[in-house]
Amino acid sequence: MKENWAGISDELRREVGESNHKSWIEPLECLAIEQGVARFRAPSRFVGDWVKRNYHDQILTLIRNSGSDVTRLDFVVSNAAPVRLKPDPVRSATTTTTTGDDMLQGTVLDPKLSFDNFVVGKPNELAHAAARRVAEGGPVTFNPLFLYGGVGLGKTHLMQAIAWELTEKRPDLQVLYLSAEKFMYRFVQALRDREIMDFKNIFRSVDVLMVDDVQFIAGKESTQEEFFHTFNALVDQNKQIVMSADRAPGEIKDLEARISSRMQCGLVVDLHPTNYELRLGILQRKAAHFAQSYGSVTINDGIFEFLAHRISTNVRVLEGALQRLFAFSSLIGQEITMDMVQDCLSDILRSSERRVTVEEIQRKVAEHFSIRLSDMLGPKRTRTIARPRQIAMYLSKELTSRSLPEIGRRFGGRDHTTILHGVRKVEEMRANDSQLNEDIELLRRLLES
Ligand code: ADP
Ligand code: MG
Repeated sequence: MKENWAGISDELRREVGESNHKSWIEPLECLAIEQGVARFRAPSRFVGDWVKRNYHDQILTLIRNSGSDVTRLDFVVSNAAPVRLKPDPVRSATTTTTTGDDMLQGTVLDPKLSFDNFVVGKPNELAHAAARRVAEGGPVTFNPLFLYGGVGLGKTHLMQAIAWELTEKRPDLQVLYLSAEKFMYRFVQALRDREIMDFKNIFRSVDVLMVDDVQFIAGKESTQEEFFHTFNALVDQNKQIVMSADRAPGEIKDLEARISSRMQCGLVVDLHPTNYELRLGILQRKAAHFAQSYGSVTINDGIFEFLAHRISTNVRVLEGALQRLFAFSSLIGQEITMDMVQDCLSDILRSSERRVTVEEIQRKVAEHFSIRLSDMLGPKRTRTIARPRQIAMYLSKELTSRSLPEIGRRFGGRDHTTILHGVRKVEEMRANDSQLNEDIELLRRLLES
């Protein structure tokens, strides 16, 4: 059989072309033919599936022509070649195993980034719900799903959670998760190695394509172009696409209009900056998690609240802070006290001190809505004045560490209940007013830059 296979493989080269042969046929090792089944060893499941899907009949015919009575091909995955970067049970070859051929795999998934470990709160509930829906792997309802939001708010976490869930629930689907940067790297590599057809085939044959941080390809013309074609080809086949970016599609600079408008065809949801409750929830969850690796550590009252209040930008930083406390505390065998927090996290606490002032916020908001600063602070209650004023109150609460009474004083001596009312009002309106959301995000970016 081995000798026969060499001849068959040669014939296949003529049929499928040099480059396809090199990518798909050469890596196969023919093991045996038994009871009508020809068994091959493939370097990864992806290669095996690919060959089965694309060359099954051709191979079968050639084997039969060579005189063997075969009705089916079977592919086993070699267990010597793959190197697992993370110690975990993995299902999808495309997303998880490392084969010699870099072009075939996505990024290795982090087992921590599952739905189970994702804490849901008001700022991320929509994004979470949408991610859950896609992860069910049912009929494609919105395509693409576009998740966006600032750094460290959980975009990658949700994307990988989708990938995990899909590989569990629908092992039949080829799920490919990778960063836009990696997409570009592969594309450039394929151009260089003249393997562009393979590249196209791979990306057009997956069932679910997930590309993280797509803002990366903005301004990179040929990568953008290729991405656009891949995207369209998959959408046409009704294959699910999930993307993330640090801002809304329309706000990504140097992204072609036709691409950004295509990205908006499905469902665009944003992850809002975390609020205090969510940060507290995340801290509690992570503490339980860290206790598994560091042993149980006693945490004094008020520590979580303090951290949730002070470290407000980025969940990654919050997580890093807590981890440092756990490591330190278990090292010296003492409970986590407020003194330890001040000592141990002085750098983080210093850099997360908010520099934005209420006055700056008022000025920028007044400018944005073309109203006078004096009106913002004064008593007028017409909508055109009151709305921007409430937005400024909301941003003051979100972006500064001022208390409600302190903010009230800076808004012409208003009562703290008035401020609270304003903040609540804006929170409510944000739920169904996308224009308002855009205004707020724009202002936030202006103020934080
Ligand atoms: P992004 O991709 O948006 O920059 P990540 O998904 O990488 O952010 O999140 C940064 C870190 O914060 C990760 O360790 C992630 O697990 C954690 N994280 C973010 N949001 C949540 C959440 N809602 N629940 C639990 N962990 C979270
Ligand atoms: Mg990310």
